[in-house]
Amino acid sequence: MCIDLHTHSVYSDGTNSPAELIKIAVDSDLHAISLTDHDTIDGIDEFLHHGHSTKIKVIQGLEICATHNKTSLHILGYGIDYRQQELNSKLSLLQRGREERNRKIITQLQKLGIDISDLELQNKSRCGQAGRPHIASILKQKKIVKTMAHAFKHYLRKGAPAWAERFTFSAAETIDMIHQAGGIAVLAHPGHIDNSMKKQPQLIRELCQRGLDGLEIYYPGHTKKIQRFFIELAKRHQLIATGGSDYHGENKPQRKLAGTDNSFCPPDSLFSNLQQRLLQGPNYKQSWPIDK
Ligand code: AMP
Ligand code: ZN
Ligand code: FE
Ligand code: FE
Repeated sequence: MCIDLHTHSVYSDGTNSPAELIKIAVDSDLHAISLTDHDTIDGIDEFLHHGHSTKIKVIQGLEICATHNKTSLHILGYGIDYRQQELNSKLSLLQRGREERNRKIITQLQKLGIDISDLELQNKSRCGQAGRPHIASILKQKKIVKTMAHAFKHYLRKGAPAWAERFTFSAAETIDMIHQAGGIAVLAHPGHIDNSMKKQPQLIRELCQRGLDGLEIYYPGHTKKIQRFFIELAKRHQLIATGGSDYHGENKPQRKLAGTDNSFCPPDSLFSNLQQRLLQGPNYKQSWPIDK
C-alpha cells in the first residue's frame, strides 16, 4: 500500500479542503496521509477530525520555508503539538512576513501597469493565507499570462520584476521550533535544492549537526538514481526516510496524490518508521531497505 506524507490544502496554496483530501485518499486506498500546508497548521483540526472517522491513518504536519547560508529550504515537521503557543507565535511571524511580501509584490505589479489589488488577493485565498501561487492564478485569470508557470517566470520567481523577499527563520531555528513542539524535522524534496546533487552532501551534514531527523526520499521529481543517492546519505547520517507527492489540487494539476496512478507510491513501511521515530526519539534506528 502507498502513503502520502506531503499534501497541501486550501489553508495554504492547495485547492482541496482537508476533508476533500481525506476523501480522495480513502478513494485511492492510501494507507496513511499527512497534511503539510506551508507555514500554517490551520487546517489540521479539520484534517484529523475527518481522518479519524475513516480507516486511513493520519498525522499532522506542516512545511516551513527556511534559509540556510542563503539557500532556501523547505522543512517538513511531523507529529507536532500543533496547539503549542510558541509554535503558533512563530508561525504568526511567518504569516506576517507573507502579508508584507504580498503587499510588496502587488505594489510592484501595479508599477508595471498591472491592475491588481490587495482585496483581489484576499478573495483568492479561501482560508486566509495567500502566497505567490494565488497571485499567479490572478495573473492567469486576467490573461496577463497564459499559465501559472509563466507568471512565475516573468514576474514572481527570484530575480523577476515583481519578486520580493520575505521573512524566514534559519534552518536551525526551524528544526528547533519543530523539536520544541514535539515533532520531527524532515528536509523536503532534497533533490530540488541543486539538480547536480553537488551541494546536498555538505548541506545535509550541516543540517544533521543542527538536529535534522529525516529526508523526503520519495518525491515525484526524484528518479530511482536520486532516491539511491539520498538513501546512502540517510544511512550515513542515521536519518529516517519519508515520502510524499506535494499534492496541490488544481494549482499543480499534473501532480497527483500518491496511489492515484501507478507511478508514485511511497511504501507504507515509511509511516510505521515515522511513528516509531516519534515514539522512541533519536535512538530509533530505521531498518533498511524500507521498500521491501
Ligand atoms: P510562496 O510560498 O508564496 O513562496 O510560493 C511557493 C509556492 O509556489 C510553492 O508551492 C511552489 O510549488 C510554487 N511555485 C514556485 N515556483 C513555481 C513555478 N515556477 N511554477 C508554478 N508554481 C511555482
Ligand atoms: Zn505550495
Ligand atoms: Fe516545498
Ligand atoms: Fe509542498
